[in-house]
Amino acid sequence: MSIGMHQFVRIAVPGVFLITVMVLCVVMMFKKKTVLAIAILVIGFIGYGYGGYKLTYSVPVKCPKCSGKAYAKKSPKGDLYYECTECGHIEKTGWSQSDWGD
Ligand SMILES: [Zn+2]
Repeated sequence: MSIGMHQFVRIAVPGVFLITVMVLCVVMMFKKKTVLAIAILVIGFIGYGYGGYKLTYSVPVKCPKCSGKAYAKKSPKGDLYYECTECGHIEKTGWSQSDWGD
C-alpha cells in the first residue's frame, strides 16, 4: 500500500476497533455484566495499543522510489519515517509517534 494509505489505515483501523470495544463495553454494562465489560475494555485497550503498533511498524508500504518494501521507523526525536529495505530510501512523514505513548 502507499504511504498515505498506510497512514490512514494505522489510524482508522485501531480507531474503529476501539469504538467497537467501547460499544460492546456499554452493552455489557446495560446487561449488568460489569466484570465482562471491564474485561472487554482492558483487552480492547491492549489490542488497540498492540494492533496500532503492529500496523505502524510491521506492515510494509510501497517505496516511492523503487516500489520495494519500506517499513515505518521512529527517529530518536520521535518522528515517524519510512525506510526502504531495498534501495535505502528514507521518506519522512512529519508524523510524531508520541500519540502511541511508547
Ligand atoms: Zn526503495
